[in-house]
Amino acid sequence: MVEISKFMVEKSDLRFGTCKQLVHPWTDSCKHAFTSMLWACGKGSIVFYTPYFIVFTVQILMRGKKLGKKEMIEQFKLYLKSGVFGLTVGSSFVTLNCIFRRLFFSEFSYYTTVLLPCTVSGLAIYFEPPYRRVLVVNLFVNLVFEYWVRTLEMKGWLRRSAGKETLIFMLGSAVFFYLMRLDRDSEKRTPLFWFFTPPRVSKEVGEPVTGIEGRSPACPHKGPCIHYILKGTAQLFGVGCAMTMLRTILPKILTPGKALKSLRLSHMKLGVFFGGYIGIYRLVVCLLCRAHGRDSAMYALPAGFLSGLAFRAAPSTPISLAPVTSSLQILGSWAYQKGMLPADWPLVELLYCVCQGLLFHARVMHEDVCPRYIINLMHTVTSSKADEIQSGFIQKILKFI
Ligand SMILES: [Zn+2]
Ligand SMILES: [Zn+2]
Repeated sequence: MVEISKFMVEKSDLRFGTCKQLVHPWTDSCKHAFTSMLWACGKGSIVFYTPYFIVFTVQILMRGKKLGKKEMIEQFKLYLKSGVFGLTVGSSFVTLNCIFRRLFFSEFSYYTTVLLPCTVSGLAIYFEPPYRRVLVVNLFVNLVFEYWVRTLEMKGWLRRSAGKETLIFMLGSAVFFYLMRLDRDSEKRTPLFWFFTPPRVSKEVGEPVTGIEGRSPACPHKGPCIHYILKGTAQLFGVGCAMTMLRTILPKILTPGKALKSLRLSHMKLGVFFGGYIGIYRLVVCLLCRAHGRDSAMYALPAGFLSGLAFRAAPSTPISLAPVTSSLQILGSWAYQKGMLPADWPLVELLYCVCQGLLFHARVMHEDVCPRYIINLMHTVTSSKADEIQSGFIQKILKFI
C-alpha cells in the first residue's frame, strides 16, 4: 500500500493530467463516465442498503409491533431516501471533478481532486431525515477519530494496544452512560445508537436491601434484580453470537455442513463482550441501588467504567472510540437545546461534509491509515469503481517516483 504525500503529487506530471487520465480512466467521455458511475452506484447502493432495510424491518417485528401496510411504506420510503443518498455521493465524485476542472482548475492538486469534490458531495446528506443525519454524523466523526489515531500511530507518536483501547472504552463508557442517564430527563432526547439504553433514574426511595433476593424499591426495573441482570446478559450474548454466526455462515450458505464445522468457540467473543457489557452495568447499578435505597445518575459512572471491561473480549479501534464520540454528540445536542449553538445553522450537515471529504481523501491518498469501514463502504456503493480509480491513480503516481 502506498502513502501519497502532497509533495509527491506536486512533483509528478499528473498535475497537468486530464480528468480522463485521472478520474475516469475507462472512458474518454465525461458524459459516459457520469452514466457509468450512476449505473455502478445504483447497483452498489441497493447491495449496501438492502441489509439495513431488512434489519430495521426485523427490529420492528421483534419489538412486537404489527407491521402494517403503512409502516411498510414508511420503511420503504426511508430505504429509498438512503439509497438516493448513497447513489448521489458515489456517483457525483467523478462528475464534480470533471465540472470543477473545466470551470476552475486546469491543474490537478493534492486538495482539489478528492478532498474538495467529496466535501461538496456530502450535501447529499439532506436526502436523509434529520434524526438519521445525526446518527450518520456520529458514525463518520468516529471514523475520523479512528483515522487520526491510525495516522498518529503511523507517525510513531502512539501505539495502539488492546489494553489501552479497553481503558479508553471503560473511561468513555463511564462518561457516556452518565450523560445518557441525564439526557433521559431532558425534554428532547438525543437520537443515539448504542447496545442498550440505560433506564431513567428512578424517583422511588426505600430502605437498603441486603442479600440477593428480590429488588430494592429504588431499582430502575421491575421484578427481581437477578432476573433483570441475567435476562439482559443472555439477550445481548445471543445478539453478539448471532451477528458473528451470520457473518461466518452466510458466505458458506451453499455448503451447510462446512459452514457449521467452521464455527469455533472463539466466535462467542462478541457475545461475551455484548452480554458482559450489559450484565456488569446492570449488576453494579442494582448493587448500588440496593445498598443506598435510592437511585442516582452518578451510579452510571462506576457501572459504565466496570462494564467496559467486557470490551477486552473483542477489542476494536472504532468501537473503543465510540463512547467518546457519542458523549460529544450528547454535549453537542445539549448546546443546541440551551441556545449556545444557533439553531438555524446547518452544523450537522456541514460536519458531515467535512468528515466525508477527509475520509474519502484518506481512502485515495493514505490507504494505510484509512478506516476499513470506509474502504468497504466505497467498494460496495460504487460496485468497486472506487478501487479501480484509486489503483489507477496510484500506479500513475508511482511512475514518477
Ligand atoms: Zn471528465
Ligand atoms: Zn435491581
